[in-house]
Amino acid sequence: EEPFVVVGASLAGLRAVESARKSGYTGRLILVGAEEHLPYDRPPLSKTFLDPGDEPAMPHHRTEDELRALDVELRLGVPATALDTAGREIILGDDEWLRYERLVIATGARARQLPGKQLDGMHTLRTVEDARSIRRALDAGCRTVVVGGGFIGSEVASAARKRDVDVTILEAAPLPLVRAVGEQMAAPCADLHARNGTELRCGVSVTGLEGEDRVEGVALSDGSVLPADLVVVGIGADPVTDWLTDSGLQVDDGVVCDETLRADTEVYAAGDVARWPNPLFGRTMRLEHWTSAAEQGAAAARNALAPAEATPYGTVPYFWSDWYTDKLQMVGITAADEVTVIGDLDGTRWLALYRHEDLLVGALALNMPGKIMKYRAMIGRRTAWQDALAFAGR
Ligand code: FAD
Repeated sequence: EEPFVVVGASLAGLRAVESARKSGYTGRLILVGAEEHLPYDRPPLSKTFLDPGDEPAMPHHRTEDELRALDVELRLGVPATALDTAGREIILGDDEWLRYERLVIATGARARQLPGKQLDGMHTLRTVEDARSIRRALDAGCRTVVVGGGFIGSEVASAARKRDVDVTILEAAPLPLVRAVGEQMAAPCADLHARNGTELRCGVSVTGLEGEDRVEGVALSDGSVLPADLVVVGIGADPVTDWLTDSGLQVDDGVVCDETLRADTEVYAAGDVARWPNPLFGRTMRLEHWTSAAEQGAAAARNALAPAEATPYGTVPYFWSDWYTDKLQMVGITAADEVTVIGDLDGTRWLALYRHEDLLVGALALNMPGKIMKYRAMIGRRTAWQDALAFAGR
């Protein structure tokens, strides 16, 4: 029998190989990764890894010994460059063919770049190398501009403020985070920047960069130029599907899968690269969240090994973000008819509940880590709005 191959050696890929073994699969198992590193965790890269002080250890998920104990063949530092589903083969690098019996695609996402010239001092943040460069620049006290008011940019701004470095966030939309937290809650989240000395400029976009080789400033659509020695671009990520162009798989902002994460015969996808109909919400989603990437990796491998008994993968989306001394957590979806806030938005703890029709569909919390998972479970159980309000003490 040909091996079970997993492409993408990060969170979803790791959970896929672990789940294959847990499911009782004893055959050859190969984990292919473009990065040279053992699988490592990304959320810390924009959080504790950027904290002032000595550089923290690399946030590996598992040691080499732990992976060896799973009897996984690691092919690291080599990208898959093509997939032939009819022949059940992938190409590694330039010319190495690898046949598979079953395949899980877990190639994740890559950070979107600003169009135009790329200068020294400009960074996106996706890999540990990116995080190291940004750390060094922050330690050097660089004047920092963050392009994009999303979560990663906000976390970088927070790391700058921990060093008392001046930082400006530029957001093209009238408010940041609207897609992530909805219209109503964007302003209270944005307010955390003002409270912590980060300048947030909305409704302004970058028209160009100043500098020859090194960045010296950012030219803006209002005609002004912001001086900067460090520019961190946090304008989103795109699923890594370019290697699938001739594969015959359907790609549409992600690898299109069914409810069981199946993309084709014996081909499954998981994590940031996968788009699938989430049965809990009756809508198609592609999430870029840690928890679902881990769960999908495990589910995809299980289903790949037993397609006849494959189970749909449903989840209530969940992500968190740490800014300054605050923890924001969101569960569910933001497409809501009404948002009710519990607590004082000027205070250090609040909760927002999202209603769609007569159901609780989402919850966003500032510094309420003990509570938010209860709401996640309630959304999963399709809890009535009145019952959710009653639970919240309303
Ligand atoms: P990835 O982690 O993107 O890994 C994909 C892997 O596949 C990479 O190693 C890549 O090199 C490799 N690869 C790509 N193409 C190929 C190829 N052709 N051949 C072989 N290998 C390939 N989520 C949260 O919920 N909360 C957070 O606070 C949070 N913070 C984050 C902070 C940062 C800085 C980043 C970058 C992400 C954060 N996330 C957070 C998102 C979370 O990390 C991702 O959802 C998760 O990493 C997705 O895992 P993945 O395995 O699907 O993809």
